[in-house]
Amino acid sequence: RALGSSNWEVEFKDITMLKPIGEGAFGRVFLARWHQIIVACKVLIDRDAVHREARGEAEEEGGALTLPAELEAKLEEEAALMAMLRHPNVVSFYGVCRTPPCLLTEYCSRGSLHDVLSSTHRVPRLAEQLCWQRCLSMALDGALGMLYLHSLKPPLVHRDLKTPNLLVSDNWQVKVSDFNLSRIMEESPTTNSLLDINPRWLSPEMIRGERATIASDVFAFAVVMWELLTWRVPWADKPMNQWQMAGLLVSGARLTVPPTDELPPRGIGGAPAPVVSEYVALMRRCWAEDPAARPSFDQISTELRQMLEHGDSS
Ligand code: ADP
Repeated sequence: RALGSSNWEVEFKDITMLKPIGEGAFGRVFLARWHQIIVACKVLIDRDAVHREARGEAEEEGGALTLPAELEAKLEEEAALMAMLRHPNVVSFYGVCRTPPCLLTEYCSRGSLHDVLSSTHRVPRLAEQLCWQRCLSMALDGALGMLYLHSLKPPLVHRDLKTPNLLVSDNWQVKVSDFNLSRIMEESPTTNSLLDINPRWLSPEMIRGERATIASDVFAFAVVMWELLTWRVPWADKPMNQWQMAGLLVSGARLTVPPTDELPPRGIGGAPAPVVSEYVALMRRCWAEDPAARPSFDQISTELRQMLEHGDSS
């Protein structure tokens, strides 16, 4: 339905921008206040218009804030999708503003899981806070958010699950975000071009151009599990362009698991040995070549919960 008639439409005059917090593919994210609520406000930008403006070719309207129909449709699509979702491990949606086009969502003060894990190398205090129970519990949060999306009827395939799209709240809860590329399963048979998605998290079947399924999200989750285990950026040790990386993944290559003494001692690597081996075994099942051999998020969350309980009693 048209944005104008939506009950989630908000007025720009009710939003107070507080500070910029991030830059995304389609716009800029601000910490903002909407009425009395602190929110994240993603302002969509027509990048072509910004470039035109830089070249002195801007239209009189001031191109940066007028969205082409395609981007407006994208905003509407993302808003309509997010408005349907309600789960503690999925970023909540508050509303959408038409002019200028922006999306209001729950603010997650620790930023993305990718930011959190990469900051551990610079901020020792952060590394200290990330004990193995916390890392396991963040993995479990992500799995529960994904389980919720996959339990919708029809299931919602995220298609771009990765640590930059997992946000972390003040109390370390992980929330799935960024539904730019998500699709309600049976409704859209389209596949993405490889250029749309970062191959670090991409399943071999998606690289081959086959349709993304719930099992492709499970493959991406295996990479997230690897990041939570190693606190490293996937494939960063092998400089490659995205085509080489894609070729490698299709040929069956997978991320290597460093020996225990090279894992972050406070992270999952510091958990009791049986928990670490169970975790690694689960991660390997999630990146199985055959999508049918990968566990479901139901199975994954059950196992992660058992690992947390097992570790507590030992
Ligand atoms: P993209 O669209 O490119 O995937 P986003 O626009 O969603 O990226 O976000 C860009 C960055 O802004 C994120 O990596 C994160 O650091 C920050 N960010 C986005 N949404 C939120 C939020 N709800 N709370 C806190 N930080 C956020």
